[in-house]
Amino acid sequence: MAKHHEVNPNHFSLPQRIVRLGEMAYNLWWTWNPDVQRLYERIDSDLWEQTSHNPVQFLRNVERAKLNAVTHDSYFLGFYDQALLAYDQYMEREDTWYQENHGHVQDELIAYFSSEFGLHETLPIYAGGLGVLSGDHLKEASDLGLPLVAMGFLYTKGYFTQLITEDGWQEAQYVKLKFDELPVLPLVDENEKPLTIEVELAGREVLVRIWKIQVGRVPLYLLDTNVEGNSDEDRELTSRLYSSDLDLRISQEIILGIGGVRALRKLEHNPAVWHMNEGHSAFLALERLRELVKNGSSLEEAIEIIKSKTVFTTHTPVPAGSDEFPEWLIDKYFSTFKEKLGLEREQFIDLARHKVSWGETFSMPVLAMHMSSLRNGVSELHGEVAREMWNYLWPDTRAEEVPISHITNGIHTGTWLARRLRHLYGRYLGSDWMENIDDPEIWENINNIPDEELWEVRHHLKRKLVFYMRERARGQWIQDKIHPVQVIASGTLLDPYALTIGFARRFATYKRADLILRDFTRLLNIINQPDMPVQIIFAGKAHPADKPGKLLIQNVYRKVKMAESGGRLVFLEDYDMNLARYLVQGVDVWLNTPRRPNEASGTSGQKAAINGALNFSVLDGWWREGFNGNNGWAIGIDESNKDYNLQDEMDAESLYDTLENEIIPLFYDRTTGDLPVEWIARMKESIRTLAPEFSMRRMVKSYAEDMYFQLMDRDN
Ligand SMILES: *Cc1c(COP(=O)(O)O)cnc(C)c1O
Repeated sequence: MAKHHEVNPNHFSLPQRIVRLGEMAYNLWWTWNPDVQRLYERIDSDLWEQTSHNPVQFLRNVERAKLNAVTHDSYFLGFYDQALLAYDQYMEREDTWYQENHGHVQDELIAYFSSEFGLHETLPIYAGGLGVLSGDHLKEASDLGLPLVAMGFLYTKGYFTQLITEDGWQEAQYVKLKFDELPVLPLVDENEKPLTIEVELAGREVLVRIWKIQVGRVPLYLLDTNVEGNSDEDRELTSRLYSSDLDLRISQEIILGIGGVRALRKLEHNPAVWHMNEGHSAFLALERLRELVKNGSSLEEAIEIIKSKTVFTTHTPVPAGSDEFPEWLIDKYFSTFKEKLGLEREQFIDLARHKVSWGETFSMPVLAMHMSSLRNGVSELHGEVAREMWNYLWPDTRAEEVPISHITNGIHTGTWLARRLRHLYGRYLGSDWMENIDDPEIWENINNIPDEELWEVRHHLKRKLVFYMRERARGQWIQDKIHPVQVIASGTLLDPYALTIGFARRFATYKRADLILRDFTRLLNIINQPDMPVQIIFAGKAHPADKPGKLLIQNVYRKVKMAESGGRLVFLEDYDMNLARYLVQGVDVWLNTPRRPNEASGTSGQKAAINGALNFSVLDGWWREGFNGNNGWAIGIDESNKDYNLQDEMDAESLYDTLENEIIPLFYDRTTGDLPVEWIARMKESIRTLAPEFSMRRMVKSYAEDMYFQLMDRDN
């Protein structure tokens, strides 16, 4: 008998004819297959909305009569059979890209570690871009057939829900997740007890439970300390993301890194490649070091072996953003561990020693750099910045030759593309276009789409966004939760025909959400032209401990509420993947104003681009590579300036000028008929040039070819 298995989730009593809806609910494949989502929607569209598009919760609550009804609906059953066939073909497929390109290496596994995974809005185990990138990475690994397993956390309270008070202050609400209503599978041992491993934290043993989420073909294992046998305090260790409490943070990272390796061993996995997505999981190298030393390797040999199997991706372009711990904390948590390695204190600290202005720290990215042989930043510019930033670890090497490369981020097309556009592309790019997402040639056919058809779909998507905002505002108003002016601030006065700009991201100060507000009189003049109105939608969360970020939200919110803004400036509460989808699919222009070179890559603009929105951004991160002069607009020039005030002033000036002189006139130009012909040409240029290059397909293939396969093929 197997030593562990997953608990059969199929606890729904479904009519036999549609019984496999239950199985599909437990595979996140449905998150990138809108035809499956439509099945649930067709059964009961209100409940589908109420459950925030969560099939597990949906099936638990749907009325039996509604299920019975569809079993007599041949139209529905046709769609059901089709979806099921596609699902089975997907899961059983043997001619995947991996099989065809690297299939000679069987039984080799890639382990992918990340502190957050953004897979769907109903699984709030992500905070922002890093998580969405990890989630998209898994979906694409599944599409390509890569033998990959992933490790992360099941945060029991998830990331917070954002509420904005009447005065614009962000309040955070934590809701305990109901695992039995989520597509999460508990793993149990042969006695039907939760499958657990143990991790030592400052002298005490803590139990860690293992869960699983199935992402297409890829399993994602999630760790959780809310287990019987742990103290109440320890049961809370994995309840939230990114605490600013140092003890909590180091405990989480020990659980992810050391616990993650133990969990994989428990599951009898022996990865050939280990990918640390950001430094949070770098302790995994220490656990592997311990294993090797215990089996008789010398420290030097063990480090060489670990390096030869490890990939590290850094996402942080500023030293202050690095994840690091004071040495006393390392003493507290690693005193016995370092003895197991046979190391003295200073030798142990050497593994991750980082000199900072006030002394020395134990730095997770430094540990990750030391313990990997292939390392990368996430855009060309970020690669350059990272090589300079970490040059001191390779003191005899010139910055250009520091061994950190770059692979620019991308997005998972199926997850982010509007359903209508998927069908439209299907008609003009060829029915198998999704097999060739990263092939620029396929995208040449964008030019064959008639302008009217593309514009009609875009209009539909913008109306959908505006109606969605209105319904949200109405719901809040009915619940008597908000002041009348907040109803306006949440978008009820928006015009589905006006030029609409979106700005949605984490409210960190470097993202400069207030740059466009810098000359407010000028902005008011821009948005309030009666014949050429402009509306701007803001959304985003600040980290709960980030006071400047929260002040930034408040500043924006106060401007949004002013009568002079005419309801044309909007702030939407609680930015998450659901809202992100509405926004990137619905707006005309996607605005991004980071202070160069702080935006390591950024991905939201890529999501907007495939949906036909035009990017209007600082030449930082991915946009510095994506912009070609005709597929959107740049803010400022291709240079960074150390004088922040001067940089802000120049960028704001450039932003207003381009808006006034280029973007607005182009959008409203109807000299050749009812359509903004030049705008649509630019839209097509944007989709054509950006969709293949900034796809997750291109990205994961690069990781596979330049990193994973390189390490798999090494003899060790
Ligand atoms: C895509 C996405 C992000 C990352 O976008 P950036 O361009 O890096 O700001 C953050 N949050 C959510 C919810 C997203 O969908």
